[in-house]
Amino acid sequence: MNDTTINQLSLLSFIFPVYNEEDTLPHLRAALEAWLPALGETAVEIVLVNDGSADNSLAYLQQWAKADQRIKVVSFSRNFGHQAAVAAGLRYAKGDAVVIMDADLQDPLDVVLEMVQRYKEGYDIAYGKRTQREGETPFKLASAWLFYRIMRWSIAIDMPADTGDFRLVSRRCVDAVNAMPERQLFLRGLFAWSGFKQVAVSYSRNARQYGETKYPLSKMLAFAWRGITSFSVMPMRMVSVLGVVSAMGGFFAALWAFGSLLLGHAVQGWTSLMCLQAFLGGIILLSLGIIGEYIGKIYEEVKARPLYIVEQCINCSLEKTLP
Ligand code: UDP
Ligand code: MG
Repeated sequence: MNDTTINQLSLLSFIFPVYNEEDTLPHLRAALEAWLPALGETAVEIVLVNDGSADNSLAYLQQWAKADQRIKVVSFSRNFGHQAAVAAGLRYAKGDAVVIMDADLQDPLDVVLEMVQRYKEGYDIAYGKRTQREGETPFKLASAWLFYRIMRWSIAIDMPADTGDFRLVSRRCVDAVNAMPERQLFLRGLFAWSGFKQVAVSYSRNARQYGETKYPLSKMLAFAWRGITSFSVMPMRMVSVLGVVSAMGGFFAALWAFGSLLLGHAVQGWTSLMCLQAFLGGIILLSLGIIGEYIGKIYEEVKARPLYIVEQCINCSLEKTLP
């Protein structure tokens, strides 16, 4: 490969995961229709993955797909989660490059133009880096900040901070990620792990204008934990460190107990014993819990159930092999 290589772009795919977005979809459609001419000659396909919405999202998507052949709808049999929806989009998208976005317009379309530019310059991944996030609670901002720092500290791959799934990815990188057999998906980590050339595109993230967030705190915490445990054995290693530290503490406590025995005031040991007992019991349970988490993950992977089940496809053909 010489360094004047320019990535070709005859078809650009967009992936939008959709879960109960009936309030947003008409705005998304209007925004896309107004914005797509900015891409000029490049042909476009839009893959909307309906992640088991319980509202009228699917009906809206069906009608939209009928009016516009570029719209491809992949509809799940139930809610499989945002990462599974994006994974399905990655399999059904056929473009030379693929853009992953949220359906709620929090990621501005104009940023895509810069991503396309970077792709043409030869980058495989152009990820959106949030310099500002509007309309988020201080708690969400602080927890997201902390999460990305812990993540970077605990994993060996170069995963950029303050970066969500909003990005443009080249065909060869999409193929690489599609070939990964993981069930416990943490896509932004997998993209970084693929090692292809990546570049940041800064933007300020809009507030959600229609509908409400589908990521309550419980889902966010589960997602963060999945991210850390899918890419790192650091929590297990910390358990070992904790074990060593408490064993050292135990050693000094034993020295102290022995000293008191020699000095003849050994009987009043109840309080310290209880403290030690409680402390060690806590550490043992915590350690078992963390090890259990990993065993649970192994169990999920060994079962090898498909990531999602597609019930219906519009303007595209149903893939026969399960993901
Ligand atoms: N989403 C999904 N399945 C889910 C939850 C969310 O497909 O189980 C979609 C949702 O429709 C949106 C995107 O994932 O397009 C991001 O969700 P949301 O905007 O609620 O998350 P936030 O931006 O608040 O983190
Ligand atoms: Mg959102």
